[in-house]
Amino acid sequence: MSDAAHDNKTTSTADLIAPVKRRIWIACIIQAVGATAGVAPFIAVAELGRVLLAEPPIDASHAWMVAGFAVVALAIRLVCMMAAAAITHIADLDLQLSLRRRMASHLARVPLGWFGERNAGLIKKALQDDVGALHHLVGHSYTNMVSALVTPLVALAYLVWIDWRLALAALVPVGLGVCLYTLQYRGYGEKMDAYNRALGDVNAAAVEFVQGIAVVKTFGQSQRAHGRFVARTRDFVKYFWEWLRGLLKIAATAEIVLSPLFAILTVLIAGLLMISAGVAAPISVLPFIVLAPALTAPFMMMAYAQNDVLMARRAAERIGELLTTPTLSEAENPEEPDGARVAFRNVSFAYDGETPAVSNIEMVLEPGTVTALVGPSGSGKTTLARLLPRFWDVTEGSIEIGGVPLTSMTSDMLYGSVSFVFQDVQLLRASIGENIALGRPDATEAEIETAAQSAQIHDRILALPRGYQSVIGEDARLSGGEAQRVSIARALLADAPILVLDEATSFADPEAEAAIQDALSKLAMGRTLLVIAHRLQTITEADQICVLDGGRIVERGQHDALISQQGLYADLWTAGSGAPNR
Ligand code: ADP
Repeated sequence: MSDAAHDNKTTSTADLIAPVKRRIWIACIIQAVGATAGVAPFIAVAELGRVLLAEPPIDASHAWMVAGFAVVALAIRLVCMMAAAAITHIADLDLQLSLRRRMASHLARVPLGWFGERNAGLIKKALQDDVGALHHLVGHSYTNMVSALVTPLVALAYLVWIDWRLALAALVPVGLGVCLYTLQYRGYGEKMDAYNRALGDVNAAAVEFVQGIAVVKTFGQSQRAHGRFVARTRDFVKYFWEWLRGLLKIAATAEIVLSPLFAILTVLIAGLLMISAGVAAPISVLPFIVLAPALTAPFMMMAYAQNDVLMARRAAERIGELLTTPTLSEAENPEEPDGARVAFRNVSFAYDGETPAVSNIEMVLEPGTVTALVGPSGSGKTTLARLLPRFWDVTEGSIEIGGVPLTSMTSDMLYGSVSFVFQDVQLLRASIGENIALGRPDATEAEIETAAQSAQIHDRILALPRGYQSVIGEDARLSGGEAQRVSIARALLADAPILVLDEATSFADPEAEAAIQDALSKLAMGRTLLVIAHRLQTITEADQICVLDGGRIVERGQHDALISQQGLYADLWTAGSGAPNR
């Protein structure tokens, strides 16, 4: 099944499990045979009772036949149940694998910027928990539902054959159960949505709390961040308890009504009434005592299975949402860029499609030059810089490299031309060597080491237990500055002619800072550079400085000229750490 077939419509549970539908059907048919065979031993017990309690002489051969029938039926049941479970579980494993692959391949085509906007908790929920929720559905729920339906139907058919009036009495608890469950599941969908939202909030608060622990502690805000997590958890518990409290009474009543004892009591009372009225023989009540509980017992199973179906439906919706997240358009007739000249042509971009974060940007990066973006916090520097490696697509205008719009290039062409080093460095849980070679998986060890040496991280890597084979997050734990140098080595190896750089902000350790600046200047050499500048003294030599304010370029030129203009740049220079007295 092709991804494309799924990407353009909303995805339902049926769509998601379509690849394994046939196998589920086969398993259900086998399960139905097994469930039928499962009732047979009970019928046999009732029949045995009838044979053995009948007027002597006892028909021994009939009794043996019934016993033999029960043994065979049990064996059939066992084989069928095992076969059905095996089929659904293999189908489930195949489905999980294909779903995770589809999500991974889809996520690979989603704009890079999308990930930053999403809570890590939500993606994790879709990839892990929601795919897991489908396991219950595919692996268990359908076959359980078949059992839950077939078992009481077969039992009921037998009981009607014995005495239809008593069979009607045996159905009373079932009727009560249906009423109670209808009551319980009223509005379940909306409540489950609210439950998932509350749980999502707790997840997000937990992720935020854990990720932010260092920052929060440094600034003495631990009470506040901790407080938010606790408040979310409290909201969740409150919501859940209120929901549960209403359900508990109904659930407790249902539990009693659907218990075997209640079923037996009902048929006993009905049986006694009928016997005393002379319309039934005592012996005909026996099968009802044995089999009446079979009519209500599957009820719970049905309720659980229905719960699974509802959970899976919601999980499928979230997986579907992930699978239908708009992807970057892939060019139909890609064009190879001619050179490394970058042109922003009347570029505007709004995160929400309405309020622009940057507007009407006209900017040319000549090959081999350095362009610095400066401006107050929130002026749009990061946004503008990230449009070049296509973290998002522009809302208006276009960005061209070598005369070709970004949208007319394949991602290989784009990332062959543009590499980037940002502060929120993402390293994969792979070996350091693989992390450096990410942009050029065919690089030799020598090339990887040369890049690491230029990025001033080679010695640090050799000091790790397994050198370049050390795995990030396992035996390689790197500081922020070290991780950044790994990403610089990565960009060096990728050797793209254009580089987008988020200039390093201050590091606690001046030696690390010097190493990073050194690595960055090696990386910048000979490339077309777009740099987000935080400290102005590092860019006094830049070929072009674009000063942003409120998403617009308000001044542009070289350092000296901008200083003499006495505008925003001059103000920033005087106010910032780049004051001339330093
Ligand atoms: P700078 O890098 O100059 O500090 P940014 O590019 O980060 O500025 O931000 C420019 C504007 O875009 C700000 O108003 C900011 O709130 C907004 N913004 C930044 N990132 C996002 C995002 N992921 N979603 C929505 N708005 C954003």
